[in-house]
Amino acid sequence: MSEPSEHIVIVGAGAAGLMAARELARAGRRVTILEARERCGGRIRPLPASQFGYSADGGAEFVHGEAPVTRALLREAGLSLQEIEGTQWSFDGAGLSREGRHDPHEAELQAVLRDLKDDLTAADFLRRHFAGVEYERLRHSIERMVEGYDAADPERASTLALREEWMDGGHALQARINGGYGALIDFLVTECRGYGVAIRLGCAVSAIEQEGGAVAVRCAGGDGLACDRVILTVPLPLLREIALPASASARAAAADDIGFGNVIKVLLRFARPWWRDHGEDLGDMTFLLSDEAIPVWWTRYPDQHPLLTGWFGGPRTAELSHLEPQGLIEAGLDSLAGIFKRSREDIARDLVASAAINWAHDSFARGAYSWATPRTRAAQAILARSDGVVLFSGEALYRGRDMGTVEAALASGLETARMILRR
Ligand SMILES: Cc1cc2nc3c(=O)[nH]c(=O)nc-3n(C[C@H](O)[C@H](O)[C@H](O)COP(=O)(O)OP(=O)(O)OC[C@H]3O[C@@H](n4cnc5c(N)ncnc54)[C@H](O)[C@@H]3O)c2cc1C
Repeated sequence: MSEPSEHIVIVGAGAAGLMAARELARAGRRVTILEARERCGGRIRPLPASQFGYSADGGAEFVHGEAPVTRALLREAGLSLQEIEGTQWSFDGAGLSREGRHDPHEAELQAVLRDLKDDLTAADFLRRHFAGVEYERLRHSIERMVEGYDAADPERASTLALREEWMDGGHALQARINGGYGALIDFLVTECRGYGVAIRLGCAVSAIEQEGGAVAVRCAGGDGLACDRVILTVPLPLLREIALPASASARAAAADDIGFGNVIKVLLRFARPWWRDHGEDLGDMTFLLSDEAIPVWWTRYPDQHPLLTGWFGGPRTAELSHLEPQGLIEAGLDSLAGIFKRSREDIARDLVASAAINWAHDSFARGAYSWATPRTRAAQAILARSDGVVLFSGEALYRGRDMGTVEAALASGLETARMILRR
C-alpha cells in the first residue's frame, strides 16, 4: 500500500505526464513534473494564433476514432469538437480527381485480412498475397497509408496492428478541437497546478539513480531531486539517453522492438483560398493526396481559414533531413505548384504566414510517434512491468488500437497512475 505522502516524479509534461500527474495529485500524492522544454505539451505544439489566425497545431491536430479518454477530458474542460467533413482528392501527376473510388480488389483484401492469424510485416503481407501486377494500385495505396499516415516502415510494420485501420479504409471518425490541442493541455496544466503538482520547466533529465530505497532524478544541469518513484514519459528515442537503474534499463531495451516514425509538417496560411479558383470544384476539399515531395495536404474545411497543411511521414522523410524550415516551406510551395500547375512565386504571393517542423530535428521528440512491429506487444508487456521504482508511460506504451496518438498518451498516463494507486 502506497503512503499518501509518497513523492512521485514524472519526467515529461506531455499528454501522458500531465494526465498521470493529475490523477495522482488528485488522490493525494505529492507530484513533481520535470520537463526539458520551456513549455508543456510535448508533441502537442500550438503555433501562435496571431500568425495563423487561429491556434494552429504544429504537432497533433486530429482526434482519431472514438478516443474515449480524450472525449471525456474535453467534456470536463468544456471544449468542443468539430467533425471533419468534405471531400478527398488525389493528384496522379496529370490531374486532380475525387478519391473514394473503391479499389476493385478491396473485398479480396478484407477477406485475406480477416483470415490472417499470424503476424507478419506489411511488406511481407503484400508480397505474399498481393504480388501480381493487377494489385499495383492496392499496394501503392497501402504503402502510402503505412508510410504517410502511420509514419511506419512497411518492411517492419505489423499487419495485425494495422489490420483494423485498413479494414475501415482509414479512420471513419476524425475531428478537431475548437481551440486546438493546446487548449486541452492548458486545461490539464491548470488542473495539475490546482491539485498542487509542481511543474519544473527547462529540466532535461539525464539519470535516475537508485541506492537501496533512495531514488534520485538528475537533470542535465546536475540538479538532483529525491523521490520514491519515477514515471518516465519521454518519447522512445530519448529513453535511450537517460541512465537508468539496472532493472529498469534491462526493461527499457525492449523499446527497440517498437517502431518510431517521423513526420514533417508544413503550415501555409494564405491571404485567400486560391485553390478554389482551380477548375474543379474544390470548395469542400479536405485531404489531397499526391506523390509530390510534400505529398499530403489538407484544408481547414469546414472552417474557412485559408490554410493548407502539408504532411510527409515515414522513413523517406530522411531524404529531406538536410532542409531547414525555410527549405521545407519552399519544398511545400513547389509541391503545390506541381499539383495546381502554377509557379511557386505565384502561389507564394498569397502567403501570409508559414511554419515547417521536421520532428526528427526536435531535440526532445526526435521523431513523431510510435508504430507497432510484430514484436511490439511483447515489448510493451516487458516495459509495462514495474520494479516499483521506475515506470514507463506515454503513447508508445498504449496497448489499445491507436498507438501513436494523443488518446494513447492520455490513456497510458491514466493507466500508469491507476496502477500506482492500486498498490
Ligand atoms: C507532427 C505530429 C502530428 C501528430 N498528429 C496527431 C494527431 O493528429 N492526432 C493524435 O492523436 N496524435 C498525433 N500525434 C501524436 C501525438 O502528438 C503524440 O502521440 C502525443 O502527444 C504523445 O504524448 P506523450 O505524453 O506520450 O509524449 P510527449 O508529448 O512527447 O511528452 C513527453 C515530454 O517529455 C519531454 N522530455 C523529453 N526528454 C526529456 C528529458 N530528458 N527530461 C525531461 N523531459 C523530457 C518532452 O519535451 C515532452 O514534453 C502527432 C505527433 C506529431 C509529432
